[in-house]
Amino acid sequence: MRSSENPEVLAPLEETASSASQLLKAHSLRRTAIREQVLEVFLHRNEAVSQSDLEQALGHPDRITLYRTLRTFEDKGLVHRAFDGTDKLKFALCSPGCSPHKHQDQHAHGHCEHCGRTICLEHVHLPELQSIDGFEVKSTFLIVQGVCSDCGKQIAAKK
Ligand SMILES: [Zn+2]
Ligand SMILES: [Zn+2]
Ligand SMILES: [Zn+2]
Repeated sequence: MRSSENPEVLAPLEETASSASQLLKAHSLRRTAIREQVLEVFLHRNEAVSQSDLEQALGHPDRITLYRTLRTFEDKGLVHRAFDGTDKLKFALCSPGCSPHKHQDQHAHGHCEHCGRTICLEHVHLPELQSIDGFEVKSTFLIVQGVCSDCGKQIAAKK
């Protein structure tokens, strides 16, 4: 269902419809309405989104379908988990180098303490750790806590 309450979300969607379908094609995924809609949200936001963000943006589609869509995207290398130190699970669009079961998103994630948004800091690479003091490393996360550029500008304008 496309709700009319969200014109700012819906208005620009048509423009990127092709790139959403191109992304699906590039990852050997069949085109479905929900897959394209979810990708369009990712393409339009320069930040990580949670399942509840997507539910809101898409006018509350079926939760199970949305959950499965996100898991499929994660498996196929389209989105990755953006850990931000909160208990909210967020996903962000992958770089083109990601493929099924082989993610290349070895970067930090920034979390804005002002507005709560989480963004990929693709230029901040994670250290390549294998074993530390007998501790076998499975995954490494780096969270940068701070104030995003939008909030920084707002704060500066109020001063
Ligand atoms: Zn990835
Ligand atoms: Zn912010
Ligand atoms: Zn990321």
